[in-house]
Amino acid sequence: MTSDPTITPRNRLWTPWRMTYVGGAAREPGCVFCNRLEGDDDVGSLIVHRSRHAFVILNLYPYNTGHLMVVPNAHVQDPSQLDRETQGDMATLIGNLTGLLRRVLNCDGFNIGMNIGHAAGAGIAEHLHQHIVPRWVGDANFMPILGSTKVLPELLPATYGKIRAEIERDLLSATELRVLALVGDKPAIALGTSGLPIVGLERDVPIWQSVVSTLSEDLHGIDILGWAGDAGTRQDEGFVPVLAVRATGVRDDAARISALDDPRSWALSEDERTIVLRGLARFGW
Ligand SMILES: [Zn+2]
Repeated sequence: MTSDPTITPRNRLWTPWRMTYVGGAAREPGCVFCNRLEGDDDVGSLIVHRSRHAFVILNLYPYNTGHLMVVPNAHVQDPSQLDRETQGDMATLIGNLTGLLRRVLNCDGFNIGMNIGHAAGAGIAEHLHQHIVPRWVGDANFMPILGSTKVLPELLPATYGKIRAEIERDLLSATELRVLALVGDKPAIALGTSGLPIVGLERDVPIWQSVVSTLSEDLHGIDILGWAGDAGTRQDEGFVPVLAVRATGVRDDAARISALDDPRSWALSEDERTIVLRGLARFGW
């Protein structure tokens, strides 16, 4: 599925971001999955989660919004080569992910499966991977069957941010996150007196929806931009995830706005400590 020859980057209407976000998807030496696993840029690699024996990665060439792959850490071709622990890890992840995807993407169903070997249509046959493709009633209209052009309603960085936020809550016990807001031509905007605004994570409410409703008090035209890293203080280990949004404007009565000079080197005063942002994702600045 990852190397469908009928789908070329030229035909993809949503690819312009790839140049800055992923940094090129040219053919690379070695195994694509092992390379991602060994790297340390999970945002650039589209890895949304690492568990003990497997990891979860967004498909760079998705068949639908939210197309994930569950990949064993072990470089094997066939499920019979997986040890029991890895099989259990992958099965648990799939159970977690379908529930999470239903919540965040409001999808109606899934196609879940593996293509084992080139004969079965595997794009990357040397390292097995299980696809999870969210489905909506009527979405076949958007599938790449006709014309080899398809329109995805959401950019990959936004999907990545939404899904990773849910994983931070469901699998890593996050109870809150902060938001980095970009407004118009200003490089960055902070809301609130305590630096980046904090959003509490409500059970059963998609995190991106909580973010939009919290920030709507001060901003309008809010879209989820993507994952922005983790924010916290150097003094303690209390880092919380940060989601980036873009807004079309600031409300006239907004009272909690302050501009930030350089989003690449965060240092916000909070209770005489310094909030730092690590693992800052790239959004073209
Ligand atoms: Zn591999």
